[in-house]
Amino acid sequence: MPEGLILWGVKSIYYVLENNTRNEYKCTIKGKILDTDFKTKGRKEVSPLVVGDQVIFEKVGLSNGLIIKRKKRFNEFKRLKNRGRLVQTIFANIDLLLVVDSIANPPLRPYFIDRCLFTADYMGIQVIIVFNKIDLLNQEVEDFYKKIKSTYEKLKFLTLETSVISGKGIDDLKKILKNKLSCFNGRSGVGKSSLIKLLDPRYKDIRIGNISSKYDRGIHTTNFSKIYQLQFGAKIIDTPGIRELAVFIDKPEDVERNIRDFKSYRDKCRFPNCQHIDEPGCKVIEALEKNKIESFRYESYLRIRETIDKLTDSVI
Ligand code: GDP
Ligand code: ZN
Repeated sequence: MPEGLILWGVKSIYYVLENNTRNEYKCTIKGKILDTDFKTKGRKEVSPLVVGDQVIFEKVGLSNGLIIKRKKRFNEFKRLKNRGRLVQTIFANIDLLLVVDSIANPPLRPYFIDRCLFTADYMGIQVIIVFNKIDLLNQEVEDFYKKIKSTYEKLKFLTLETSVISGKGIDDLKKILKNKLSCFNGRSGVGKSSLIKLLDPRYKDIRIGNISSKYDRGIHTTNFSKIYQLQFGAKIIDTPGIRELAVFIDKPEDVERNIRDFKSYRDKCRFPNCQHIDEPGCKVIEALEKNKIESFRYESYLRIRETIDKLTDSVI
């Protein structure tokens, strides 16, 4: 039975790309309830299929199909709906998270990067930081930028400098994206859409992460995710209206485990459940005071912890 990837779907119709081919099939779900590998406790899921899902399907004629089964997801991203009362999955199975920021215009904002890095590490997804607009590097921003970049490199995060103007880093970016399903994350205006246009000029009208035009605000496009296939063999997921991926953690106390800077200190704190805030004998605070941990990273930790606290409250 053929297997494929959900590229996008609207109103119970899903476009499936058959694996290892270029053939797309317009599919519906066979029967009423999808046979998922994953336990749903007999409950029907609100959206049983999302972009990025791998499915087993049956071909009907040349270009139609019936989806029989969804395969187990290796990761999935969700968001809150209805003021936190509902959790909705938006996409699944990405290989790479690309965090794009610009070194100037808008100014570099490590807090946004830190949140994405945290999400990737928490979910065990490969991540790379793309510093775009490197052509704007000047004396004014240089020291700050170099400090931020070297902090991430010391923590063994992959980084790449790119410029849509000079073309710097674009070939490397292609190599990184090739044969993967990637998600671009970044604030508005940092150059996500421009990078994609440069990678594949067929997408000259693309608006990654944003609602592209007034037509897109129509009834059935409520923030609809979609996978773009770039011509050199990369797949990019676009999640309109979702600037940032949320991560759902049951216990805010677990945040500190996923902060790379804390790894070599946290086990030496006096209390095994130390949150590195105001506890006596805290080695993380000591490292921070000795500048072994950058203060911007510690600030990000506090802010991530705070928002997760709030999210946890709203989910319950
Ligand atoms: P997005 O919101 O992240 O998709 O950002 P856009 O791709 O729309 O880019 C925002 C603005 O930044 C546009 O005016 C682009 O022309 C400009 N821009 C994008 N990449 C670069 C770059 O590498 N260097 C410079 N100088 N400007 C860029
Ligand atoms: Zn501590």
